[in-house]
Amino acid sequence: MKVRFCDLSVRDQSIKANLLEAVSRVLDHGQLILGQEVEQFETLFARRCDMAYCVGVGSGTAALYLSLRALDIGPNDEVITTPLSWISTLQAIVACGATPRFADIGNDLNLMAGHVEDLIGPKTKAILPVHFTGRLCDMPALSKIAAQYNLHIIEDAAQAFGADRKGTKVGRLSTMSAFSLNPMKNPSAFGEAGAIVTNSKKIRDRLRRLRHVGMEMGEVCLEPSLNFKMDALQAAMVGVSLNRAEEVIKRRLAVAQKYTEALSGVVTCPSAKKGRDRPSVFFDYTIITEQRDALKDHLEGRGIEVKIKHSPLMPDQPAFKGFVEADVPNARRLVSQILSLPVHEKLTDAEIDYVIAEIRNFFST
Ligand SMILES: *Cc1c(COP(=O)(O)O)cnc(C)c1O
Repeated sequence: MKVRFCDLSVRDQSIKANLLEAVSRVLDHGQLILGQEVEQFETLFARRCDMAYCVGVGSGTAALYLSLRALDIGPNDEVITTPLSWISTLQAIVACGATPRFADIGNDLNLMAGHVEDLIGPKTKAILPVHFTGRLCDMPALSKIAAQYNLHIIEDAAQAFGADRKGTKVGRLSTMSAFSLNPMKNPSAFGEAGAIVTNSKKIRDRLRRLRHVGMEMGEVCLEPSLNFKMDALQAAMVGVSLNRAEEVIKRRLAVAQKYTEALSGVVTCPSAKKGRDRPSVFFDYTIITEQRDALKDHLEGRGIEVKIKHSPLMPDQPAFKGFVEADVPNARRLVSQILSLPVHEKLTDAEIDYVIAEIRNFFST
């Protein structure tokens, strides 16, 4: 049996028909960049996040970069973030000219609030937490610290659309949240796209200008920037995906529950309790085990695709070695022990059972 980590094909005929219809609508009116599809997407996405405003942009990386720019974060400023994320998180900070500071993470693979506080100094402007694997960071603790030290929080919510802890949705406790809508994310475009949500109209307006080479209405350029606009075909297709986002989350939660029930005795599993809230939407299902490398070889040998997300740690990437010091012993240990299993919504029960059986099999021999 082959179990794929990710399957982006569209085989469901009704979803395909909805997507083609969305594309056709755009082709009919010919407004290909920004325009009504982007505005409709923005309205809908803001509402789904319980936020006042959304600004659609060209990618999740752009969403992060523009969020920092909208707060005038630049040279001489420091931004505290996690060492464990997709490299875009760090690249966005560096592209602004700001200095990243790395706080350590816990077994939930997310920032530890106490470590964040230790790094706060006179140059600190913002905290940039990542809800890694789709699991919410301890936002109440982080927002308390942010309030105490007068810092902004920009959430990297690229993996966490729909996450909710005790009624506090992703995005609610921060100045801005950046989402990726790339094809691996939920909801997704069928190409590159991203979005930022905020409750500040002033920030919304600034973001609109920043995504459009610094231009205000007409041709008045008010500040340096590049082109980060969202295109209408992507917005229209994300709209279709957004209608299904809840269904996708539910299926991923069900897969995660099966894994956690079956594997908790053999590896460290993420919590996947059924409850009223939903602290993780399981963008990834990531286990922790000291025998990670051997387990990975075993599973790949049995046709099961697994991933290490993401090694090396961002500060240890060749581009950033020696750039800033990162005192993150937990992250250094965890990055050698984490393994992400297939958790996508198209997995069949037989495939899930096979993954479980092969992991149990590995540990029983
Ligand atoms: C996907 C992702 C991004 C970047 O989004 P793109 O749309 O690929 O540019 C940033 N941060 C995290 C945590 C991501 O998973």
